Amino acid sequence: MAGIYIHIPFCRQACHYCNFHFTTSLRHKNELVAALLRETEMRQEYFGKATVETIYFGGGTPSLLPIEDISLQVEKIRALYEVAENAEITLEANPDDITKEKLEDWKRIGINRLSIGVQSFFEEDLRWMNRAHNAQQARDNLQLAKQYFDNITIDLIYGTPLLTNEKWKQNVETAISSGIPHLSCYALTVEPKTPLQKMITRGDKEDVNPDKQSNQFILLMQWLEEAGYEHYEISNFSKPGFRSRHNSSYWSIGPGGQRKKYLGIGPSAHSFDGSSRQWNVANNQQYIAAITKGVIPCEIEILSPLQKLNEYIMTSLRTSEGLYLGGIDKEIKSRLIEMSGKYIKQNLVKWEDDFLVLTKEGKLLADGIAADLFFT
Ligand code: SF4
Repeated sequence: MAGIYIHIPFCRQACHYCNFHFTTSLRHKNELVAALLRETEMRQEYFGKATVETIYFGGGTPSLLPIEDISLQVEKIRALYEVAENAEITLEANPDDITKEKLEDWKRIGINRLSIGVQSFFEEDLRWMNRAHNAQQARDNLQLAKQYFDNITIDLIYGTPLLTNEKWKQNVETAISSGIPHLSCYALTVEPKTPLQKMITRGDKEDVNPDKQSNQFILLMQWLEEAGYEHYEISNFSKPGFRSRHNSSYWSIGPGGQRKKYLGIGPSAHSFDGSSRQWNVANNQQYIAAITKGVIPCEIEILSPLQKLNEYIMTSLRTSEGLYLGGIDKEIKSRLIEMSGKYIKQNLVKWEDDFLVLTKEGKLLADGIAADLFFT
C-alpha cells in the first residue's frame, strides 16, 4: 500500500505567510509538467509492486493547471502503477479557480476529493494574508463545489491579528453549516524569510499573539467536538468516514518507524521507501534540467533507529490514537513512562490502555512535549 504526491509549484500570487515551494511565473509551466510526467516514469520501481491507494495533487496551486495537465498525470500514474480501484485522489484548489466547468472536468478525470484553501471567509483577513481570492468567492465557490463533491476539506487559519474570536466562530460555523466533512486548521506561523516576517520586523504588520492562538485553538476543539467532528490529528478534524487517507498514511507510523511508502514527484517533494527519506530539489529550473538529463535531483537520508523512534514519538503523539507503547523495547518503554510522569501530573497527557494520548490542554503543547520525550 502506498501513496503518490505530485507537487505543482505554481501560484497566482504569493500569500505573505507562505514558505512552500512555488513561483508566480507560469513561463516554464509546460517544461515542468513534462518533467513531472518523466519523473513519474523514472520512479516506476520506487516502491516495487505496492498498490497505490492515494494520489494527492498539492502545491502550490494545482487548480491553476489546465485540465489536460492534471489528466495526463493521472493517466500516467494509472498506466505505470497498480492503482486501487477505490483510490482516494485529492486535488488542492483555491476558491478563485473553482468554476462549474473545472469541477465537472476534475470529476470526469477521477478526482474524488477536493482540498480547498479557504483560510477565512472575511475579506479583511484574506487581504491581510494577500490571498488571491476574495470572501465572496470563498463562500460561493464552496457551495458550488459541494454540488459536485461530497468529500471536501477546507483549510482555515486562526490566530491572525484581525481575527477576533467572534469572526473565528463565524468561519468555523460557516464550514459546519455548509456540511464540510473535513477541516484542516492551522495557527498562523511566522516563517523565516517570508514577506510576513519582514513586514512584522519593519513594524508594518502586527505580530501574532500566542495566547490568542491558544485560545482560538481551544475554542476550535470545543466547537468541532460539539458539531460531531473527530479530532484525529492535531490540525485535522473529520466527520466519521472522512479522514484524509493520504495524510493518514504519513501519520500512521510504527514504533520502529514502519509507515506506508510514499512517492513525492516534483520540485521539493518528499518520498519514503520504507528505510530512506528523499527530497527533491526545491528549484524548478534545476529540477527540469536534471529530469531532462534522466537524473532525479534529490538528497537521500537513511534513517537511523533513533531517528525513526523520535519520528514515531512526534507523529503518533499528534494523533488521536496516541503513542503506542505495547510493541516498544522494554527499556525505551520504561523511560517513556518515567518521562511522561510529569506531564500526566499536569494533565497534559493520559494513558488509554497502552497508548499515551495528549489531553486537550496537552494538544496546545504537542510539539514541545514530543520533543522532550525524544531519545538522544
Ligand atoms: S496559494 Fe498556497 S502555496 Fe500558493 S502562496 Fe498561497 S499558501 Fe502558498
